[in-house]
Amino acid sequence: TKMSEVEFENSGAGDDGTQGALDQIKLENQIFQAFQNKEFELFYQPIVNLKTKQVMGCEALLRWNSPVHGLISPNLFIDVIENSSMVIPIGHWIINQALKDLKTIQDQLRDAKKTKLADDFMMSINISGRQFTHSDFVNNLEDLREKHDLQTKNIKLEMTERVMMDGAIALESLNQCRNQGYAISIDDFGTGFSSLQYLTQMPISFLKIDRSFVMKVLSDPKSKAVVSSIIHLAHAMDLEIIAEGIENNEESLVLETLGARYGQGYLFSKPVDLGRFLKLI
Ligand code: C2E
Ligand code: MG
Ligand code: MG
Ligand code: MG
Repeated sequence: TKMSEVEFENSGAGDDGTQGALDQIKLENQIFQAFQNKEFELFYQPIVNLKTKQVMGCEALLRWNSPVHGLISPNLFIDVIENSSMVIPIGHWIINQALKDLKTIQDQLRDAKKTKLADDFMMSINISGRQFTHSDFVNNLEDLREKHDLQTKNIKLEMTERVMMDGAIALESLNQCRNQGYAISIDDFGTGFSSLQYLTQMPISFLKIDRSFVMKVLSDPKSKAVVSSIIHLAHAMDLEIIAEGIENNEESLVLETLGARYGQGYLFSKPVDLGRFLKLI
């Protein structure tokens, strides 16, 4: 089954609210069951330096390996997780797995005498709003990091603009993470909030330009202007840029010329499982 063909029998909203609510509960249960059956897996997509083509790190991306439907994209179920309390146990599992795999990646790089790459390698983990604003987030993250014997500088937390704006707790937790030495990255930049105020207040170190701009950078001068402005803004604020969804050499070259340092996309590699990622680097 192709991912795009997958449809959940219970995912349609009912005519009345009760049916809709029941469908929602069924879908939540189906997803939590899958999680407990260990059908979830993390894939890794490299993030590369556009000039040198050197890998600088990777992004952990959730996959549901369903025995019925095959590999299911998180776009089809991540909202259900993020809007329910299961985001806490599942989010905990994601962080633990990503950190465990980060350790494996660094160990392999050190064995291969790629010491500098190992020391600088960054694991990006997507963090949802509800997960981040949970009171124990930073403590749990610190516990897991210590358990896996890792340094904070190798760990990057990816959050959307919406999460950044999510109440007063966001700034406090963000500062706490930053002070510990974690890197913070804004995901899908340019698609969320219209206010840029938070950029002056939040302790951010990376901006990820959304694929919706990258895919139009060759054909649409206005998208190119937006990308160019984002890159200038980022440089003026001492932020690093990662362009997401680079699919061909032309896009890569334009982004590099506009001043983007890092990129991620199918041109370099699709997200792959840990085994394949280890071979790739
Ligand atoms: P995202 O964080 O913006 O991740 C980038 C998405 O773009 C990934 O989709 C990736 O596979 C896809 N992508 C990368 N390069 C290309 C390209 O060149 N072309 C195209 N067409 N697509 C590309 P994916 O893995 O399906 O994830 C979708 C979204 O689900 C993510 O968007 C993220 O918002 C969410 N997500 C994934 N894993 C997690 C997770 O562990 N936790 C949370 N909270 N959200 C996650
Ligand atoms: Mg992301
Ligand atoms: Mg993104
Ligand atoms: Mg996205």
